[in-house]
Amino acid sequence: MWTYQHQSFIVHQLPVLRDNYIYIIQDRHSSVACVVDPALAAPVIKACSQLKITPTHILNTHHHWDHTDGNEELVQTYQCEVVANQDDASRIPHISQPIAVNSALTLGHLNIQSIEVYGHTLGHIAFVIDDALFCGDTLFGGGCGRLFEGSFAQMWSSLQKLAELPNETRFYCAHEYTLPNLRFARDMDKDNAALKQRIKRDTQTRMKQQPTIPSTIGLEKKTNPFLRPLNPRFVDKYNQENNTTFNALQVFTHLRERKNTW
Ligand code: ZN
Ligand code: FE
Repeated sequence: MWTYQHQSFIVHQLPVLRDNYIYIIQDRHSSVACVVDPALAAPVIKACSQLKITPTHILNTHHHWDHTDGNEELVQTYQCEVVANQDDASRIPHISQPIAVNSALTLGHLNIQSIEVYGHTLGHIAFVIDDALFCGDTLFGGGCGRLFEGSFAQMWSSLQKLAELPNETRFYCAHEYTLPNLRFARDMDKDNAALKQRIKRDTQTRMKQQPTIPSTIGLEKKTNPFLRPLNPRFVDKYNQENNTTFNALQVFTHLRERKNTW
């Protein structure tokens, strides 16, 4: 388990299953504690007893089992509320506090903003709390989620919304996919110095069996191939290399399709 300090809350990061992360957000000024995307209940219960935390809420970014399977047992154990997208309520087990997309919610002293980030699924939301972003399977370290339900245009617009957050925003995604993502990035974005540096650093991090997450929005904009189309110079270069005349969305689409078969 790893711990990150923010001004008004603490984030505890639990690695579970093959490559999932569950987060526990602990409000410093109240007894509120939110569990984000519990794939499982047992590791959360164990961590909470060590930390002497009683979860008050679950925040689900989307309905996939590896983000919600822990809901049932956590609700039974702690009688906690389940906060998720009201438009996806039928797919979120034990949802009790449905919220609208792009709305605000205050729990204890946590001011939580929900952002619609459809694409991976139609119903996926991200949570922003101050300078922390919990984005489920939308933005990953060096990558982005697969499109199971949404269109390329939807995913591109979702990623753009996340890219508009301040550069120093730390983002906590739900999987440790960074290194394989960066290997693809290296092939798509040759002679990107920031990317090379990141590959070196993140490779060392993983060798020490430490997480590469959280990353920051600023670093992703410089090194994540799925955000790089925001930079017109990248789009120009991509078009030159591939003999195409794509706009940013088309470059994103092309990259996302190539990644599926890469
Ligand atoms: Zn998912
Ligand atoms: Fe997932």
